[in-house]
Amino acid sequence: MGARQRAIKRTLLRALGHPVRCELCGETLFRAVPVVARGRVKLIGAECALVRVDFDSMNHLSFRHVQADRCSSQRVVA
Ligand SMILES: [Zn+2]
Repeated sequence: MGARQRAIKRTLLRALGHPVRCELCGETLFRAVPVVARGRVKLIGAECALVRVDFDSMNHLSFRHVQADRCSSQRVVA
């Protein structure tokens, strides 16, 4: 993908993407557009996010920060 295509994608994600927030701290992890194709759900916009994903139930995914130091709910105040 070229620089121009990446810029167009960023603009579209800003306009159409849904913010996906950390379940623990509420901070936005990334903005994504979900696309369902065949047996897969793809989150366009989540390609570079470093997040943990878990199934809470058959139809409920939860997202969290992977790195504890990036998550304000896990930050220890000394
Ligand atoms: Zn967090």
